[in-house]
Order: sequence, then structure tokens, then C-alpha cells
Amino acid sequence: MSLNRTAIQVFEAIERIIQNAKLGEIEEVELSLTDGRVMAEDLVAKHPIPHFNRSAFDGYAIRSIDSQGASFDQCISLKVVDYVPAGQVSERMLQSGEAIRIMTGAQMPEGADAVIGIELVKEITKGEEKWIEINRAVPIGQHIAYIGEDTQEGTILAHKGRVISAGEMAMLATYGYHNVKVYKQPRVGVFVTGTELLSVEQELEPGKIRNSNSYMLLSQIRKTGAIPKYYGILPDDFDLCYQAITKAFTEVDYLITTGGASVGDFDYVQDLIEKLGAERLFNKVAMRPGSVTTVATLGDKWFFGLSGNPSACFVGFELFMRPVLKKAVGAEHIHLPRSKAKILHDVEKPNLFTRFIRAKAEVKGHEVFVSSTGVDKSGVASSLIEANTLLVIPGGTKEIKKDDLVEIIWLDRPVEGTIYV
Ligand code: AMP
Ligand code: MG
Repeated sequence: MSLNRTAIQVFEAIERIIQNAKLGEIEEVELSLTDGRVMAEDLVAKHPIPHFNRSAFDGYAIRSIDSQGASFDQCISLKVVDYVPAGQVSERMLQSGEAIRIMTGAQMPEGADAVIGIELVKEITKGEEKWIEINRAVPIGQHIAYIGEDTQEGTILAHKGRVISAGEMAMLATYGYHNVKVYKQPRVGVFVTGTELLSVEQELEPGKIRNSNSYMLLSQIRKTGAIPKYYGILPDDFDLCYQAITKAFTEVDYLITTGGASVGDFDYVQDLIEKLGAERLFNKVAMRPGSVTTVATLGDKWFFGLSGNPSACFVGFELFMRPVLKKAVGAEHIHLPRSKAKILHDVEKPNLFTRFIRAKAEVKGHEVFVSSTGVDKSGVASSLIEANTLLVIPGGTKEIKKDDLVEIIWLDRPVEGTIYV
């Protein structure tokens, strides 16, 4: 096929992707099931916190004015007229010369404007009566948490697009978000193609390899918040591939194939796109690995033809598919973070295409150091195990020397670091 395969720059490819990416639909989910989901509504403080004036200490609620003039030499006695544990409310209106025993978190009684800590008073029993003696003046407001002191009503605590984790869970519960509006998790279909592929439980035979791409991709898909659906291995047979893919498109809006994206004799991805009538966003990117990555849209549906080479497949997903899925799940940050790092070795092999080298970055003190994690060929996947970053070598770079500052993209992976003291 005389297909035009002009390589476009990586940033141009990402730009085309972003232009077409769409937010997903919204659903309501019971709070306890929303951990890790993305909020589709702002988290608003529906009432002030605290919503009543409450004691911040175990002690006695008093009128500050009653304590004025108290000293070690001249104690003042107050009569204890009630007791309020947390969760209860005193019916009493505190009068001059009185105190109410109060526990942390309990509502301040009417008339009281200060709390004195339990350990600062002398408790005295006179027959049926209880009294306290205080030996210091207590300022108005002491140990009281006032209405709205923590959060005012109407404050936006997190905007939609926030991934829900511990802090958001706590605040959603605090404000009574029993059901939370979150973005639906798109389902992403995965086919791996190649007549050479064996499934994981099969014994190796000459000329065949085990499929590893689907396992890798399913993990990458889950990390975006989307739900993968594995459709299995397809042989290099155009008609079988076409039938399987059209059927899968009736079930999912996002479909990935790996393999067959190149120009080999059995590389059918381009023909599939033609026959599907999909609109191709690009079919060659000036990058290594993954130059044959192809992306097309079919109405609101997406087709990703990733390279069969595991590392190319991995990089193609992270650069192009991840932002589309992150957008669909409503995340506020759709791109992986980037930073500079000091490289620990020279990089040879200058290339006109931008290189994304699997690498490991480490934080030491206030500096980040990065080094390649092994053989940098697109077919080599073992270097993915240690990689937590992609080291970016822009196309046309003449040379990179040890200690140069280079750009890295942080993968969603653990980072080792030493704490700087
Ligand atoms: P292709 O993109 O079909 O030309 O495949 C490129 C290379 O990736 C070939 O060496 C394939 O055997 C290998 N490959 C293709 N699919 C997979 C897969 N699912 N898992 C592991 N390797 C694969
Ligand atoms: Mg193949």
C-alpha cells in the first residue's frame, strides 16, 4: 500500500491527541467505593467546621469575667452545675459564679465563654455539691473552637478533577457526600496480534514467543483509572482481525492493538484503519522506540495501533494513550510530570528521532540523578523493570556527556531517595 507515512514530531502528535480527547460521562457512586476515582463535582464545605462552638479541651466551661482577679493567693470558687460529655448539650444557661464540667468536642453551654483545663483547677466536694477553685484569670475564648474556625461554609476544598484519596475521603464524609459524582471509568479493549504469540501457560516452541504486551498494557490501563478488557491473541490474518475489532468496537470506546503497525508483510493495522473508515491522527512519530505508533478516531471512539515491540508499546501508551484516558476519567493532571536530572553516563548513538530511554532516577539530597536501566532497544522489555522515568534525548542532539542536565519524564512508579538532613 502506498500509504503516506511522514513522521511527525512527538509534541505535534501529543497536540493532535489532546485536541481530540474528551471528558467522560458522570455517575454517582457511594462514597466508600470512590477511592481512586476522579471527582466530577467540587468538594464544597456544606456547613462551617465546627458547626457549633465547642470545647477543645477536657475542663470546665466558665465565664471569663468570673475568673478575673483570681491568683495563687486568692483563689476563686465556682459551683459546678452540670456535666457535658462530647455529643451532648447542656440545657443550663451558665450564670455568674457557675462552671460546667465539659469534655473535648462537647458544645459550649450558653453563657460560657472560656474553658479552663481539668488539671488547672482544684475539685472540691461539699456534701452533694461540687465546686472548683481556680487560681488564675482565664481569657475569653480560651480552649474554644469557634464556628467556622477550621473551615467556613462555602469553601471549595477540592475542585472537580481531583483523584479521591484519604484526605478527600475524610472531607467528603465530613460534609455528608453520601453519593459522590465521579467520572465513569472508560473500558479499554486490548488485542495482541501476531501468529508467533503463545499464551502465558504454553510451553515455548521454535519461532514462537509468549505474549507479554497484554499484561503490561492492562497494568498501564488500570493505572490511569480506566478498566481494561482483554480480548486475546489474534493471528496475522486481516479478515479475522477486522471481524474481531469491529465486534469489540460495539462493546468499548477505546481499543488497542499491539503488533502489525509497521510495514512488514503481515502488518495490517493501516489497512484495518482504512476499512474501518477511521480518521487517522498520525501513523508515524519521530521517536524511538515507537515510531510506528498509529492513532485513529472513529466518531467518539479511539483506535490505538501500538508497536508489538514491548518497550515501544509501553512508551507509545504512556505518551499518547495515557493522556486520552486521563482526560476521559476527568483527571486534573493528564500529563506525566517532567523535570531535569543529572545524567550519570554518556549517551551514544545520536538520532534524528527523539529518544525515550528507559531510565532510573534517584533523588539524593536536593538533586536528581538519572541513568539508563539497560539495553535500549525497542524489543527489550527487561529494562522496564527498574525504570521509573523516561530519559528524553531530543532528535538531532549531538552528544550527551556524563553530568549533563537532561530532561526526564516521571513514570507513575516508586522513586528511591535519600532524605536530606
Ligand atoms: P510487530 O509490531 O508485529 O512487527 O512486532 C514487533 C516485535 O514485537 C516482534 O518481534 C514481535 O514478535 C514482538 N511482539 C509482538 N507482539 C508481542 C506481544 N504481544 N508480546 C511480546 N512481544 C510481541
Ligand atoms: Mg507482528
